[in-house]
Amino acid sequence: MSALAGKRGLVVGIANEHSIAAGCARAVCAAGAELAATFLNAKAEPYVRAVTDGLACPIVMPCDVREPGQLEAVFARIGRDWGTLDFLLHAVAFAPAEDLHGRVTDCSGEGFGLAMDISCHSFLRMAHLAEPLMPRGGCLMAVTFYGAERVVANYNLMGPVKAALESSVRYVAAELGAKGIRAHAVSPGPIRTRAASGIAHFDTLLEAAARTAPEHQLVTIEDVGALVAFLASDAARHITGTVIPVDGGAHLMA
Ligand code: NAD
Repeated sequence: MSALAGKRGLVVGIANEHSIAAGCARAVCAAGAELAATFLNAKAEPYVRAVTDGLACPIVMPCDVREPGQLEAVFARIGRDWGTLDFLLHAVAFAPAEDLHGRVTDCSGEGFGLAMDISCHSFLRMAHLAEPLMPRGGCLMAVTFYGAERVVANYNLMGPVKAALESSVRYVAAELGAKGIRAHAVSPGPIRTRAASGIAHFDTLLEAAARTAPEHQLVTIEDVGALVAFLASDAARHITGTVIPVDGGAHLMA
């Protein structure tokens, strides 16, 4: 029996076939789940549909979390069509280039606020909207990075933003735990994606991860998908509030 048979999930953050969210969408569908997915705007839609067309994904909607009402419309549609939701994945991040490429010490209030709103507060909004759709419990997942915990060169502003995301996951896990709603942050090692290309000298990060990880290998979006599919399944029913590295052990090394 497939681990996610009969479960329905929402994936936000597919930009194209290389996105971490695309690897996760494929993994949860392979495990038997039915999906809803979103695209940022009309320009992104064909790249997202190239991923979702091959999957059990009957709901594909626009969602820019900065556009008033768009996120709410996605949950309203899920409520109308499905009535309930079993899991969701938040794989969304953004920081203005001028703030991301400078020192954290110098980042603007506007850039900090925008990065926090899109990359962190949108997770809380998703948790808030998902709660009434999860009467039998569920699983809320976000994607973080080791730069939340330790200073990683060039990760800059996204470090404090991911730290806030990880803390938000813990508070959501504590607040919704009594309802059987679990929350996790998965923390992949570096993977070459569109968002990653915004980090300066990302190739150096990839090279360092491959060199220092005990496995001496980079992780893939399929590896992240396998973890997300497990966390969304009933096999993980008593696990909540964690930040789980999927990085070949790179986080262990000094
Ligand atoms: P990606 O570019 O494929 O995905 C980022 C997604 O964020 C895109 O789909 C984009 O449309 C979405 N997004 C940005 N602004 C948005 C907005 N206003 N509204 C809705 N969506 C918006 O890159 P990715 O690497 O797959 O990123 C997914 C997540 O994984 C991010 O949270 C990222 O920080 C995290 N992450 C990435 C890596 C890596 O090395 N690639 C490592 C650890 C964590």
